[in-house]
Amino acid sequence: MSDASHLVPVAVHAPVHSGLGDLLSYASPEPLPPGTLVRVPLGAREVLGVVWDGAAPPPAAGVEIRAVAGVLEGLAPLDAHWRRLVAFTARYYQRSLGEVALAALPPQLRTLSAEQIARRLRRSTPAPEVAAETIENVVLSAEQESARAQIASEPGPFLLFGSTGSGKTEVYLRCVQEALAAAPDAQALVMVPEINLTPQLEERFRARFAPRFGAAAVVALHSGMTHAQRLASWLAAHAGRARIVLGTRMAVFASLPGLRLIVVDEEHDPSYKQQEGARYSARDLALWRGRTQGAKVILGSATPSLESWHASLPATPEDPAGGRYLRLHMPSRIGAGALPRVRRVDMNQQPRRSVLSPPLLAAIAERVARGEQSMLLLNRRGYAPVLHCADCDWKSDCPHCSAHQVFHKLDRTLRCHHCGLTQRVPRACPACGSLDIVPIGRGTEQLEEQLAELLAPVLRPDGTPARIVRIDADSTRAKGALQSQLAQVHAGEVDVLVGTQMIAKGHDFRRITLVAAVQPDGALFSSDFRAPERLFALLMQAAGRAGRDAAYMAVQGTPCEMWVQTSHPRHPVFEALKRHDYPAFAAQQLQERAAAGLPPFSFQALVRADARTQDVAQGFLRAASEAAQALPELAQVTLYPPVPLAIQRVANVERAQMLLESQHRTALQRFLAAWQPLLHATRADPAHKGLIRWLIDVDPLAI
Ligand code: ADP
Ligand code: ZN
Ligand code: ZN
Repeated sequence: MSDASHLVPVAVHAPVHSGLGDLLSYASPEPLPPGTLVRVPLGAREVLGVVWDGAAPPPAAGVEIRAVAGVLEGLAPLDAHWRRLVAFTARYYQRSLGEVALAALPPQLRTLSAEQIARRLRRSTPAPEVAAETIENVVLSAEQESARAQIASEPGPFLLFGSTGSGKTEVYLRCVQEALAAAPDAQALVMVPEINLTPQLEERFRARFAPRFGAAAVVALHSGMTHAQRLASWLAAHAGRARIVLGTRMAVFASLPGLRLIVVDEEHDPSYKQQEGARYSARDLALWRGRTQGAKVILGSATPSLESWHASLPATPEDPAGGRYLRLHMPSRIGAGALPRVRRVDMNQQPRRSVLSPPLLAAIAERVARGEQSMLLLNRRGYAPVLHCADCDWKSDCPHCSAHQVFHKLDRTLRCHHCGLTQRVPRACPACGSLDIVPIGRGTEQLEEQLAELLAPVLRPDGTPARIVRIDADSTRAKGALQSQLAQVHAGEVDVLVGTQMIAKGHDFRRITLVAAVQPDGALFSSDFRAPERLFALLMQAAGRAGRDAAYMAVQGTPCEMWVQTSHPRHPVFEALKRHDYPAFAAQQLQERAAAGLPPFSFQALVRADARTQDVAQGFLRAASEAAQALPELAQVTLYPPVPLAIQRVANVERAQMLLESQHRTALQRFLAAWQPLLHATRADPAHKGLIRWLIDVDPLAI
């Protein structure tokens, strides 16, 4: 190493488990500013790295310092805001800095050569000079205007609590417009929970902003795009050419030097939580990023997460955590459209084993005859959740998982939805040879089939039969299938839509006048304390698909309805749904959570262990727990005993977990930081040889 060369700290993808530090030292002939993207040798490979802040770590004894292999020319360094966000994420979610930094970058930055990237950069044209055309704006409703004005004048963060169809998206559009008008380099980030929701959002944003800023000013960022598309969007955002980034949770890490506004639509949606690697919550990171980067944050929902709702309640002496978010309320639907009337069918009073109760079926038939659309929700795909032998009690269990294989009638398969194992449906019982094997329970395929039979005698206004379409993960496997199926619904080419929760979210269907939850009871008695919250949100969202077009409803002259088939019609979830009363539901749930000391009144983390046997998995967790007893940081943290996961075995891997709880977020953080090295040490102990992996999930969504 010559005297002229500089030592720089570089974040590379060295996972926590590798034992390498967060940062490695490399030599460079030039000083390289933090945030510079470089290629560096790592072992026998050359990898992408990010020059980091601070001093280069001293190399371990006897380790030779290697030189930076190249700098990605033409790319401005990633700014300090971005680096801080990455560093915070790594610390908070207990992962390595390099892992988070590299995962936050588009994959092609890692795989393309410097020349290839330079070519991509040349190819992207600079932002066109667009005439300062004025944007066509709709007139905001009084509620929308009040929300807009408060967002303009207050610092936030904001919880936009607006009914389905109250025009939240219009408020986002207006706030983005104002944020962009504030400075020529201002940028906005708008997040939605699911890839499926990005095309329609993109269309609305493009229609609004392309005339003013050019079509290239709006880009998308989600995992449904090709790597080349993702790189192009990322580069445009990084260079400031893209003014608006629309994306799913991964977009929270986009490099946005001019970021002024972040919108998190449907903020309650569990999809914002990443379920592998760094298990981050994009909503929580959006709040953190907004605060540190000086961007306003709007969380929007008709059914906010109880965490966000709690933060938007006024602070009281007993509960000082309130008042952190400013709540903006938009209770009314645009165009004076009414929210659907909720009708509960007591399934105890209906003929046994009926899928669709006679009154619900009659209501659907009426809609078909009038040319209106209905939507039926059933949260199980396939034909039936299990096949059963009446003679010997054999069940279609997956040999590799503690779960049943689901019967799919259309392609005559038994499929495990956990490990993917797919087999032909046996002609006879594999255990006793009996031919008497029958499906038990029902899924969307069966619902579609039975509906076709039941509606056969019903005709549409033009005398043709009802058209039924099923939308679920099976029907939409082919690329573009979902978009074309949704387009069919929008075009009015479908009378009855059957599907899983996939269809309940966000879509602006115009002619649906009836929505039905066919079998929602399963979630009422789940062991997961968040199950009622999820069910309520799902049903409210589903109800929100009905009667969205006030003008259409006025012409039809019929009320829109949400039907719920249940054996527990008096359950508080359904009582609150009946009144469309989220605040009452939230109050009741928060009271229960407070009494039980559950989030948002406490903070949790999970440690999970996967192994070939349950003994090894739990043994590792027990040893880690014993090691923790020596830590003074344990004082404010409760460590529960290891238990198997609800689905204990998947693909022959046994899974166990251990819950940690604390009254204080910082106490939990301090404990996890102190405990991590002990977990690594425990892992290295030969006593736990059969352990496949372990991981930490901070603020887990499923216990
Ligand atoms: P949400 O996001 O709250 O479900 P949207 O923003 O999608 O609601 O609005 C519902 C419908 O009302 C959309 O078709 C939208 O174009 C329309 N809309 C929203 N705001 C207005 C307004 N101020 N005037 C007229 N139509 C509006
Ligand atoms: Zn049998
Ligand atoms: Zn399986």
